[in-house]
Amino acid sequence: MKKIADSLDDIRRKISVLERKYQRPAGSVRLLAVSKTKPVEDIQAAIDASQADFGENYAQEAVGKIADISNPRINWHFIGPVQSNKTRTISELFQWIHSVDRKKIAQRLNDSRPEDLPPLNICIQVNISNEDTKSGVVLCELDELARICSGLPRLKLRGLMAIPLLSNSFEQQRKPFRQLKEKFIQLQSAYPSMDTLSMGTTHDMEAAIAEGSTMVRIGTAIFGERM
Ligand SMILES: *Cc1c(COP(=O)(O)O)cnc(C)c1O
Repeated sequence: MKKIADSLDDIRRKISVLERKYQRPAGSVRLLAVSKTKPVEDIQAAIDASQADFGENYAQEAVGKIADISNPRINWHFIGPVQSNKTRTISELFQWIHSVDRKKIAQRLNDSRPEDLPPLNICIQVNISNEDTKSGVVLCELDELARICSGLPRLKLRGLMAIPLLSNSFEQQRKPFRQLKEKFIQLQSAYPSMDTLSMGTTHDMEAAIAEGSTMVRIGTAIFGERM
């Protein structure tokens, strides 16, 4: 199996090639390493290779890993579906959450964010291609949710996230990302704190970067297939 440090190098190189190919500024696409289901040793190997941003999907799993690693320089990003009984855990342990998709969750995260920490960085997850997963706010309710989130003092609205249906066609992959980008630009004029478009995974990273992604969430290409 390829070493994690080598995979990280490959992905970083790929990202900079794609930045150039699509006339994106160098360094404008941040790499989030998605470490869900992977052991602490793998995360540590990535940290040793200078990776600082990690994404986790399951609060319960993340609690132990974050405690074991216990490194203040790491940014932990929660990217999975949020259960309301996990909002306190998330707001205490994570620097970012990408999957805010309803008012109740935003409110609970705000209320439980510890006073001694800066506001929690949030992205609103949008159900852009109306995928049958129930996660993500539908487009027609996005403005309202953005307004609510931006008014909560313990949250900092940073951007939008989407997980479109997987397609093998590059053009099909680009469409939902383009839609999300358009929405992002509209909202940005009302909420200048928005600077993040969280889109693209191992399988659709190029389409996402072509359409303006500022943060790609890569698991498989760094850590290998998940069991
Ligand atoms: C698992 C996951 C990823 C990473 O997917 P890969 O195909 O392994 O790169 C990205 N985003 C979310 C929300 C995920 O759950």
